[in-house]
Amino acid sequence: MAWRVTVDRGRCMGSGICTALAPELFTMDGERSHGPDGECEPDEALVDAADSCPAGAITVVEDGRVIGPGD
Ligand code: SF4
Repeated sequence: MAWRVTVDRGRCMGSGICTALAPELFTMDGERSHGPDGECEPDEALVDAADSCPAGAITVVEDGRVIGPGD
């Protein structure tokens, strides 16, 4: 099942943690991160990035349920 990832660019503080953890999935666009557009293949690195984002800017959704960041 495909996942959907969003990066809230208004919240992103440009730490670069997500791009360091998953450089194939996130890129820096100026001071802000840019993640996969639309649906993407499941990858635990996405959840790791969501869990590690200091701004809580990354959300990972599977079938309408938020799976990242976790508890
Ligand atoms: S980890 Fe969060 S705050 Fe840091 S660049 Fe990625 S989205 Fe932005």
